[in-house]
This record gives sequence, C-alpha cells and structure tokens, in this order.
Amino acid sequence: MKSITEDYIWRTGVIIKQTAIKVQSVMFTPPTDPKKPAKVKVSQLCELCHARKAVMRRPKNLQKICKECFFLVFETEIHNTIVSNNLFQKGERIAVGASGGKDSTVLAYVLKLLNERYNYGVEIVLLSIDEGIVGYRDDSLATVKRNQIQYNLPLEIVSYKELYDWTMDEIVACAGIRNSCTYCGVFRRQALDRGAEKLNIHHVVTGHNADDMAETVLMNILRGDVARLEKSTAIITQSAGSPIKRSKPFKYSYQKEIVLYAHYKKLDYFSTECSYAPEAFRGTARELMKNLEAIRPSCIIDIIHSGETLKLKPKKVKRAPPLKHIEVRSDGSVSLQNEFIDGNRCERCGYLSSNRICKACMLLEGLAQNRAKLELENYAELSSGAAKLTRTLEKLSF
Ligand code: SF4
Ligand SMILES: [Zn+2]
Ligand SMILES: [Zn+2]
Repeated sequence: MKSITEDYIWRTGVIIKQTAIKVQSVMFTPPTDPKKPAKVKVSQLCELCHARKAVMRRPKNLQKICKECFFLVFETEIHNTIVSNNLFQKGERIAVGASGGKDSTVLAYVLKLLNERYNYGVEIVLLSIDEGIVGYRDDSLATVKRNQIQYNLPLEIVSYKELYDWTMDEIVACAGIRNSCTYCGVFRRQALDRGAEKLNIHHVVTGHNADDMAETVLMNILRGDVARLEKSTAIITQSAGSPIKRSKPFKYSYQKEIVLYAHYKKLDYFSTECSYAPEAFRGTARELMKNLEAIRPSCIIDIIHSGETLKLKPKKVKRAPPLKHIEVRSDGSVSLQNEFIDGNRCERCGYLSSNRICKACMLLEGLAQNRAKLELENYAELSSGAAKLTRTLEKLSF
C-alpha cells in the first residue's frame, strides 16, 4: 500500500510517471552484479550527476534528478540563502520555532546538519508553543519531544495557558471559530518572543517556506494591503526596539521539496491539520497559487521576486487618532485599531508593542468582555429556567 506522502507525490506528479510505477525496483534495488550493471537509458539518468537513475522531477525546475543530488541541491540552496543574507553570526544562539510539522522538523534537521557541515558556530534550541488545542497540538508536541531526542537538541515549551490564561480551545468556545487564526497568530508571535527571551536568545528561525511567502504576497495584493505587502518578503524581521529578530531560511524552498526531503530522509513529523479551519482568504490565495504552480512551477519564486522588487510610493506622514475603544463585534471578532508608535511598551503587560496597548492585551480584553456577556446570558437562561420550574411546581397538587 502506498503511504500518504507517496499519494501526495503521485497526485501532484512530482515523481516522473515511469519511476512512480516501478518505484520499488528503480529507486532502491542496487545492481546485483557490479561488473555487469543494469542498462539504463540516458533519458532515465540524473541530469546533474549523469551517473545514477533519476527518481523525481524537481518541483522547482522539473529537472530529472536522483535522490542524492536532490539532497545536495536542497541543502546547498538553503546554505546559500543563509550565507548570502548573513543570517547567522558565530557564537549566536538560535531558537527554531518547532511545531512538529514538516517545515519546522526539516528546518531543525537541516540547520543542525549545515551547522556541522559548514561550521556556522551557532547553538540550536527547539522552541515550541502549546496553543492548547486538544487532539492537534498535544500530538504534535509529542513529535517535537521525539525530535528533541533524535537530533539531541534542547527543547523549551511555552503555553498560551501559562502566558494568557486561555487555551485556543477556550478561546474558540468563547469567541467562535471564525477568528481563531487571528487570535492564535497574535498570541503565537508574542509567545515565541517571550519564550526566546526566557532562554536569553535573540534570534528565532521559523519554517516559513517559499509557498507561504508567495501566498502572503498574493493575499496582500488581492486585499490591497500595501503596508503588509512591503514587509511580506523580508527574510529577517524585527520590530523597532525589540531584541528579538526572526528569520526564514526556507524563504526560497518549495513546500513540495520540503515534503520530498522529509519523505526520503524518513524524518519523523506530524502531518495532521489543526482542527480549526485556516483563514478562509489565505486558503483562497493558496488554491490560486497551487493552480498557477501547476501551469508554471517558477511562479512561486517569480511572485517572491516581484514582492522583493516592488517599490511603493513614499507614505504621507499622518498622525493616527488616539485609541478610544476596542470594538467587539456580535460574532465575537475584535476590531484592532492602530496607534502606531514603534518601540513602545504595552501599558498592561509591559511587552514591546507598536501601540499603547499590545494586540494580545486588546484581544484578551475582547475575550474577557465576551466571556462576561456569555456568563450573563447563561445566567439569564438558567434563571428563567428556574423560575419556569418553580411556577410549574406551584401548579402541581399532591
Ligand atoms: S490553524 Fe489557526 S488556530 Fe490552528 S494552529 Fe494555525 S493559526 Fe492556530
Ligand atoms: Zn544525481
Ligand atoms: Zn500587552
């Protein structure tokens, strides 16, 4: 029976047809008699080494290559991204945002490998966030704990419950599923920073890949969100005044190649999706990008390149009106209003924020208001139920 990954590869046509049919014999059977090697058609040979049989078409450029050459080009491209962007400094401690998923698992594995191969001289720590999503995050954290042992790397886990006194399950129960990713994204960003601070680490690397980046560019174009569009292709990001920077060594790595790498290297990763639906609009942008990629694989890199070279008109400096209130809509979503001052500290939690009150605290306030409203409604429902019961009992004669 084919595994899930093989199914995925088969469906998306990553492996060339002939190889996919005879995958067992072509990929893994060495020639029985070395003096009499099996005849291989030139068209089946790897286009890079011209010595081994090709087992795949490389998703990035459709080149027919062997497994060994694929490992080498995939790792070397990431190394080149790291070096050309000067991502790491000798002696630096870096935290890999580890979720147990394919991207962060491959990231931790490849960074450890490249650090040893090219002597970057960095110390790698795994940093995981426990959002509190039963049946999803608890299982994926079990994978991270196994990775910690497999790769012999230290691990730190920070939970939403300990930081905010809310789990994502509680947030969804209170505010509904529609905005779950908005809450989760804001809380995770801060949680990663807080976790890194706790470890005295000032650099967090994340597994965002080329597909994620192209999707973000596309989404911001479709929304006309030029403020975000400008920053969406940066490989290193850092808020003014914040000691913690973030980087994306997989900025140019295709998602399909990450899956192939994890598959051929037999890495242990968790592949279940979060039980809360991803942002609807991001899903639409993803779908659009997948369709474009099927016609022209280079479009992922092309979209990133367009985002990188895009020049926006200089902005007019405008003072934002002061923050009056936080709007909690009837569906439980919260309207975040900007009062942009870089390098501030949040008046409530003391965390670095570009606003007077940080986004996490604003969302927490919205949640508290929602919870109070819900409790009131529940109480009203209970009281009316109790009054009804009393009236019924009064009518009864024994
Ligand atoms: S899908 Fe949304 S709710 Fe689930 S982990 Fe991702 S951001 Fe959080
Ligand atoms: Zn080769
Ligand atoms: Zn705050």
